[in-house]
Amino acid sequence: MADIEPVANEKTFEIKQSQTDGEIIAEVTADIATCKDCLNELFDKNNFRYRYPFINCTNCGPRYSIIKTIPYDRPNTTMSAFAMCDKCKEQYENVEDRRFHAQPVACPACGPKITLCDKTGKKIENKSDKVISETIRLLLEGKIVAIKGLGGFHLACNAENDEAVKTLRLRKMRDYKPFAMMAANIKKIKQFAVVDKKAKDVLQSIQAPIVLLPKKEPNTIAPSVAAGVNTFGFMLPYTPLHHLIFAEKKLNALVMTSGNISDEPLICKDDEAIEKLGNIADAFLMHDREIYRQVDDSIVHIIKNELVLLRRARGFVPQTFISKNSASADIFAVGADLKNTFCFVKQNRFIISEHIGDMADASVYKHWLGSIEHLKKLIEANPSVVVCDAHPNYFSSQYARKLKKDKLIEVQHHWAHIASVLAEHNINEKVIGLVADGTGYGNDGAIWGCECLIASLNDFQRFGHLAYYPLAGGDSAAKEAIRPIMGLMKKYNLSIPENILDEIEPDGKKRQTIEQQIEKNINTVQTSSLGRLFDAAAALCGLGSCNNFEAQLPMALEAIADKQVKESYLFALKENGVTTAEIGDMLKNIIEDKLNGTDRKVIAAKFHNTIAEFFFMLAKKAQDKTRIKTVAISGGVFCNRFLSERLIELLQKVGLTVLFNWLVPANDGGISLGQAAIAAKKMNKNKQD
Ligand SMILES: [Zn+2]
Ligand SMILES: [Zn+2]
Ligand SMILES: [Zn+2]
Repeated sequence: MADIEPVANEKTFEIKQSQTDGEIIAEVTADIATCKDCLNELFDKNNFRYRYPFINCTNCGPRYSIIKTIPYDRPNTTMSAFAMCDKCKEQYENVEDRRFHAQPVACPACGPKITLCDKTGKKIENKSDKVISETIRLLLEGKIVAIKGLGGFHLACNAENDEAVKTLRLRKMRDYKPFAMMAANIKKIKQFAVVDKKAKDVLQSIQAPIVLLPKKEPNTIAPSVAAGVNTFGFMLPYTPLHHLIFAEKKLNALVMTSGNISDEPLICKDDEAIEKLGNIADAFLMHDREIYRQVDDSIVHIIKNELVLLRRARGFVPQTFISKNSASADIFAVGADLKNTFCFVKQNRFIISEHIGDMADASVYKHWLGSIEHLKKLIEANPSVVVCDAHPNYFSSQYARKLKKDKLIEVQHHWAHIASVLAEHNINEKVIGLVADGTGYGNDGAIWGCECLIASLNDFQRFGHLAYYPLAGGDSAAKEAIRPIMGLMKKYNLSIPENILDEIEPDGKKRQTIEQQIEKNINTVQTSSLGRLFDAAAALCGLGSCNNFEAQLPMALEAIADKQVKESYLFALKENGVTTAEIGDMLKNIIEDKLNGTDRKVIAAKFHNTIAEFFFMLAKKAQDKTRIKTVAISGGVFCNRFLSERLIELLQKVGLTVLFNWLVPANDGGISLGQAAIAAKKMNKNKQD
């Protein structure tokens, strides 16, 4: 028992709230990790819920994932299938009891049960303790077990067994993307990664998210778990079932990756799991408590000692955020097409959905439509105003345009990024907004991505940006680094030795085609994308030539960057109505450094420092001109800790106030909040603001 660490009974959100003007309230509440009291009972031989995998109380257990409709009462949840026994009922009805009106209350006599099934779904064991010991045996043998959890299925295997992890990669057809892990306790995680005080608090919070932590080297985690990045994603056990598996002290860490096929939604239904995961898993650890809504694990990291969300889902959804601005009509913000979330506004209440995924996948789009209906019903929203991205071809925008509500508001992508920060911090004033992003549709038809805006929730102006370069190839431009490289060569008249280009794209014919496309402006856009510039720099450093998963190259570049290096490359700011950052000198220097044999750790660091510096210079210039002293930073590229921390330091050093995303991700997962905030300001009842 000593090794079992309960989650702390504290609310990360309430702590955070003391630092902002906003207010968070919870109506339909989020799913919460097993509390300390329940854990004590779980391992107490004299308790009638001893070793019961579904123990819960008013302070913990499933909520959002089991609610079908409001009000939040047992008959409206998937627990309606289980009639309470007398003992449970007594606690449920006793005002003095910890389980008073705990809707999912259950015990071994009356509640859900676990079973072990083979990969065809045939039951092979149904005695609770035997199911757990068998599961552990299979995992220790190197087998893959699909474990039904709180918000969906996980695919689990022993994280210290490279053979098992490789098999999982092969069967899941996921070659590179790092896997998340669950470890027995903080002490174990510390053997594999650096856990400071803040990280420990977040790991043990009631949300129990996956926390990205710096790797410790050497470690015993299988090399194939997270190659090419400098972090491990760890979470602690958050259901009684997880605790029972780790309590046997046979496993140190498990890979616990989402049970789904490539980019499809997380699987939460038994039939679908057997059908789709049967080729991946050797066995299924099942239970008969239905999951009504799938909710992924949340992912966070820590920047400047603050919890920063990368994927907002389990534990955080559907907490409501209260704004200063109160809208005169209900608003529905559809979000963006990548890492989609959507958001409803009811007066001054903002309710943001869980992470949905990338809309290009048809099953995600279908799941999105269902999720919208579900949340709308749950919070009784009746939107007459719809907000979407200004992108002409986003699936989400096309859907919004077809809705034909009273009012349709289209919001420029990067303005929405900055607005998400303003919404979180409840700020109506103008700020200097710095956006570091992959792509977003710009007002001039170009693809924006590296922007300095003067923005409020009312409007924005483009103050400066990374100078445009041509990018050929539509969708493959976000994957193949050769495309931005050739665009940048053209823009800055660079010559790169053939052998370096050969390393990145050996197919000379393909290079020629790209060159011609750029020359003739065929299938080519003008862009200020920072994400693609990172791809180019990573490829020039010899870190690969393709993003097999999103941001693989930029993450590899961040992973090797040497934090001790403070130098940077040359760049120029050019004035031409707007200020543009010209980076031709930097690229020339990178190529020279490479030819001189400079360590790529140094090149990577100097590159990061240069980006931080030109953002800083843009902000300084904007400040000189406008006297605005607050800088908001957002956009997917700011999920890069090296870049964010260096830029924040530079800005703070000269006395500027820096605001960044806390409650929603800086990536496109935060777009819906920004869109909603802009619409709410437009529809604001308090006109004096
Ligand atoms: Zn509890
Ligand atoms: Zn009972
Ligand atoms: Zn974006």
